Formats: sequence, C-alpha cells, structure tokens
Amino acid sequence: MKKSDENKDSEGGGLSRRAFLAISGATILSGRSELSIDTANPICSPLGSDLIVQPHLATTLAARSVEHQAPWYARMRRCGQINFNERDPIDMDVEAWADYWVSLRVDAVLLNGGGIVAFYPTEVPYHQRSRFLGTRDLFGEMLNAMKRRGLRVVARMDCNLAYEQALAARPEWFERNPDGSPRKHNESPWLFRTCMFSSYFTEQMPAIYREINNRYKVDGFFTNGWPSTGSLGVCYCQNCRKLYEEKIGGTPPEQTDATSPLYRRYYNAQMARILEIWELWNKVAREDGRESIYVGNLGGGIRTVKSVKKLAEVAGWFNADHQGRSGDTFIWDCAQQGRVAQSVMKSRTITNVTGAYSNSQPVWRHVSKPAAETTMWLAQTAASGVVPWFHWLGGSPEDNRWRDTGRAFYKWLADNEVHFRNKRSIADIAVLYPQATIAFYKSGDGPGSWRGTQRSQTSDYLQGLYHALVDGRFLFDLVHQEDLASETLGRYRALLIPNAAFLSDEQCEQIRRYAESGGSILATFETSLYNEWGDRRARPGLGDLFGIDVIGETIGPYGNSYMRIEQRTEVTAGFDGTSLIPGPENRVPIKADDRYRPLLTVVPYYPAFPPEMVYPRNQYTSEPAAIFKTTGSSRVAYYAGDIERTLWRSGTPDLSLLIQNTVRWLAGAAPPVSVRGDGIVELFGWETEAGYTLHMLNYTNPNMTRGFFRRFYPVGPQAVSMSVGAGMRINRVRALRGGRDLAFKQDRTTVRFEVPSVADYEVIALT
Ligand SMILES: [Zn+2]
Repeated sequence: MKKSDENKDSEGGGLSRRAFLAISGATILSGRSELSIDTANPICSPLGSDLIVQPHLATTLAARSVEHQAPWYARMRRCGQINFNERDPIDMDVEAWADYWVSLRVDAVLLNGGGIVAFYPTEVPYHQRSRFLGTRDLFGEMLNAMKRRGLRVVARMDCNLAYEQALAARPEWFERNPDGSPRKHNESPWLFRTCMFSSYFTEQMPAIYREINNRYKVDGFFTNGWPSTGSLGVCYCQNCRKLYEEKIGGTPPEQTDATSPLYRRYYNAQMARILEIWELWNKVAREDGRESIYVGNLGGGIRTVKSVKKLAEVAGWFNADHQGRSGDTFIWDCAQQGRVAQSVMKSRTITNVTGAYSNSQPVWRHVSKPAAETTMWLAQTAASGVVPWFHWLGGSPEDNRWRDTGRAFYKWLADNEVHFRNKRSIADIAVLYPQATIAFYKSGDGPGSWRGTQRSQTSDYLQGLYHALVDGRFLFDLVHQEDLASETLGRYRALLIPNAAFLSDEQCEQIRRYAESGGSILATFETSLYNEWGDRRARPGLGDLFGIDVIGETIGPYGNSYMRIEQRTEVTAGFDGTSLIPGPENRVPIKADDRYRPLLTVVPYYPAFPPEMVYPRNQYTSEPAAIFKTTGSSRVAYYAGDIERTLWRSGTPDLSLLIQNTVRWLAGAAPPVSVRGDGIVELFGWETEAGYTLHMLNYTNPNMTRGFFRRFYPVGPQAVSMSVGAGMRINRVRALRGGRDLAFKQDRTTVRFEVPSVADYEVIALT
C-alpha cells in the first residue's frame, strides 16, 4: 500500500506540440503496418553553466528565455526536508544541517514553521510554541543558515491539529463526532483535529502565515497532510451541520457512496472548499509581493478520490507525498504516482517525497530503509519527470546511513541536470486515468457491484494494464478522464481505456471524436456503461464505437473460463500450440454486429473441481470475447471481459501477451522507442532542453512485488532503437549513470545503440 507520511487521515509546455508532431505524431494517420486482418470482413536550474548548447536545437535559446521568466519553483530540480520534532530546539545543529543540504546541491529546503507546534517565538494566540523552544528561534536560525548558503526555504506547516487550549477558547475550530465530542489524534490524543470548514482555515492559519511572512523571507508554504487526495471525511461540528442543512440537503454518508445524491453534493462542496482555501493561502503567501507559493499535500498514487484534475487547476506546484511502499506493493508505485501527477500538471512543477526512514508496516521513523529501495524510489521520481524531495525526520539522528544514499543520487542528478529539464514526453500511447471509476465504482451495494470477489480494488484494472505495458516495454502517458480534448489526445496513436465504467456524456463524445479523427482505442468490460457518478445507461455510451450492445447483467466472478482462438492474427501471436487461453473472471454479455466474425470466442465457466467434473459443457460458442474493428486508420479493440484486472489478480503471462499484442496492433507503425533485452524494465522517454533522454528503471529483483529492495541485479545488453525529430543530427549518446559514451548509428530519424548493462537505473542522453 502507499504511504503518506504524516498524513493523519489518509494513507497516506514548453513549445507547441507541433514540434512533437514533427517527430512522430504526424504518423498517426498514416504509416500503418499492414495487418493480417481483412478490413472488408472486419473481425471482432536554473540552467547550469554546463548547459550543452546544441546548435541543431533551435529551441534551446527560446526555452532558456522562458525559463528565466518562470518562478523559482518551476526551475527547482532537487529539494530536501528535515522534519523537526518538538524536542529538536534542545540540540539541533543548525550549521551541520545546512552543510548537509548544500552537499546534496538542493535548490530548496522545507523547514518546520508551525501550525501544531511553532518553532519560532510566535505571538499568534493559540499557536503553541514548542515547549523546548526556550529563547531559541529554531526556524529563524535554520532559515538564515540556508539563506546564507543560497538555498530557498519553504515553511512546512500543519493545519490539521491543535492543542486543548485552542479547543477551550475556540471550540468552533474543531471537528466533532456525532455526539459532539472533539476528535483526538489516535497516537497523540492531546491533539485535536481542526475542521476545514471552520475559520481555523480562513483566519488562524492565514494569521500564522502572515506572521512568518513578516518576520522571515520564506519562499513558500507547505501544509502537511492537507488536503490529501483520499476519501472525504464527515464532520459534525456546527459549521458542517449548517452546511449539510443548507447546501447538502442532509448529512452525507460517512463512506464513499456516489449513488447517494447527498454524497454527490458533499463531494462538490468539499472540492469547492479545498479550492477556496488553496487559493486563499496562495494569495496570503504572496501578500508581500515576493515570488512565493502555497503547496498542499497530495499524492495517493493511482488511488485518488478527490479530483486531481481540479486540484491541479489551482496548484502551481503539485506535491505528491508518496514516500515509499510497504507490504506487497509493486515497486513501480512511485513511477505511477509521477504519471498521475503529470497527467494533470503537464509541464508544471511536481515534487514527490522520498522518505529515507523505514516507512514499512510496521513503520520505523528513526531508522533508514535500505539504500537500494531509497535509490529506486528517487530514480522513479526522476524518470517520471518529477522533482525529488528527500525527507528525514528528527534533528539529531542516531541512524545516519541515509545521508550518503541521498547525497550520491542528488550529486549525480545535479551533475546531469540539463538532461532532467524535460520539455515533453515522447510517448505515443495514452492510458486513460479513470479517476471516477477508481473513486466511486462498486462502492457499497451500488451499481456495478457483484458478490464473491475477494480483495478487489477499483484500481486493479489500471494496475493490470500497467503491468502489461511494463512487461511489453511500451512508452505511455496517463491522460486524465477530464482532459480528453483533441489538444491532449491528438498527439497519441492510441488511447487505452482500463475499464472506465464511469464516463460522462462529454467524455464519451471526446473519445468518439478521437476515434473519428484516426485515433485507435482499446477498451474493456463495463467501459462507459455508467455516467460519471455511476448512473447506469440503457446501453454503453461508447457501444456504437465498440460495435456492441450489452444484453444482460455482468457475469462472474468465475475462474476456469476461457477464450477460444478462432483466427490467427498478430493479436494472437505467440499462442502457437493452444486454441484456449485464460478467460476473464468477469464479463458483460454482449451482442455484436453480425459483420464481426469473432477472433476470440467465450468458453463459459465449468467446474474446476473435482477433476472428474472438469470438462466444458459448452465447448464452442459464437459469443465474441472481443471485437476488433478497423475504420480508416482508426482501430478499435473491445474486450467484453475484465482481462486486465484478471491479469493483475492472476499474474498469467497469457493475458499480458494478449494485451501487448492488441496494443501493438492498435499502434500500427513502429513505436518511437524499442528496447530489446532481458529483464523487467520500465521506460520513460523525454524530449529535453538538450535533446532526448531514455530512462530505464531496472525492476528485475526478487523484491519487485514485496519490499524492500536490498540490492540490484543488473540486466545485460539492451538493444535500443529510438526515433528522433526529422533533420535532427545526433552527435553523442551517453549513459549518464554508467558515465560513458555509447557507440551509435543514425539512419535518418532512427538512432540505434546498445546499452551494455543497467544496474539500478540508466538514463541515455541523446544530444
Ligand atoms: Zn466540521
């Protein structure tokens, strides 16, 4: 599961796209490889002084001037955080800490200002000073030490909790249980939870920000734990009761339930309040005219409930507090987090926190996690185009093993900074981030629910598709379901939709238009069967596009059902020797256009036990398991079953291969990057200010699916073929982690080279 550090209540540009289209997007409507399917009978820095000036990149100077107008946090590439505890004023060594952060070559440091506990001599009523503060001004001393070294300082705040003294004086600031009692923190019960609908958020926190802004030259404010992207809390304070009465029409359900009209109105009221507070605090941060910013605490990986799209509309900086993994979380969780944030922030500032401590289950706040795990988390952050934020708790550590881990990675990043100034992703495949489905699908006994499914998560569909794409070494981006206009989708060859059951009419129309303009689509299962809140449609919103209608209730979950291969095409490549492949655990019964001769048919479930009973009762059916359509240059593949979720739950490579084959068929022409070799490697490709980069994350590790990485297992030679812009001459191909130049050959727009080995992470820079 994801870890959201101190979160109390949850787990927690550039140039126009024409330049990109010149590289590969223009091929979207042409250049398809011929397909073995009969279309007549379709089947179903600040810029460093070491900037490498590339004369062939006419964009560099333009980008440079844009950069100099950008706010400081847009140029930031590395930051760090030492998280004070109340006792730290006793013996925290200010100069030593400042020296440490400088040694990491960070641009900015986050230092505790106040909120719960003030680390400076505050005068704001009910803003509790650290009881160990004495005559010290720890925040001021630390800030000055950082400023003397040329670092930016962001005040790290906490708006979520306050002491009993404040509760007694200002009872209206606090969250309440139904019986009116205040809500205590579970581990530190002398602290009480504040309510965001109260004036604690509109008066008390701004008063504290103003005091800090007046006394210290801070470059921004960050609030721990708020607003988070997790589920909504329900509070019974006077302010909230008034809200329920006047705006919601009653008390909303305590659990996520999008079938409830009260929940829907409460969701909208919560989002509106969060955006109102975010904008207020951003305004307060800038009151004295300095270039400052407020940044909230987001994250949640792919499991978000609050709309990250709407949050990104007010956020100048998106901080993902996704500090590490625990339990059986796959290693790629941090790269996924980066992709989610990229889908809504585009080229704007994103950071992700790496906890250097052991944020496992159970957690140890004061010992390091293994260096390999920390390094891989930092590597995923950098690979996904996100700025790393390295984090330690407590000013007087007894475990100092983490220090060199962060320093080594940051020093390498700083030495190669120009190659981490990304302009745009070069992926040609988009994956729809189905946030409404992840947030609301199958909640309670609502629509789409079915019994007997164990440990099912609404993110399983996306996880399964992700798994197949990593297996197949595809370059891809996530696109948010609220961002499907042609400006976003137009640059991709294909849009892959992992069971987006909940889609609005407008989103269905945008997807339809994308297909009409030549884009290709993969969709599964109940995609578009409900609107964005989960109201069931008479027929799927995209049924016409898929060429199907749904003719009954969802069937499943059943193991031991199959798909029968009826025709051999590139979609079924690699299945020689079998006519049966694993079937999905759930499927919707569909009626397809008779013109579509099925490529795969359904073999329904039959008993798996005892062996005497294990034979098909209905061996041959004409029910299509999938539909494949070609219209002009648009290809559409629709699977009636939840094949991607079944892949995630079972791990069967057959379903991974089937999805990979389908994606290759949809994409048609050769991908922008092909990497052949052994190992499980996640790829990112970027056009940068200096040229291009190919990022390769080596997940080949016995701890890939269960933490922590203890060491790395290098994977051998990787043969790379990579497309570059027309007319672009590549002069150098360098492995930045290996620290060596690679031999390469360029044939028009294709550059070929071999990467001898990838230990943890490799970045190949083409300039
Ligand atoms: Zn309240």
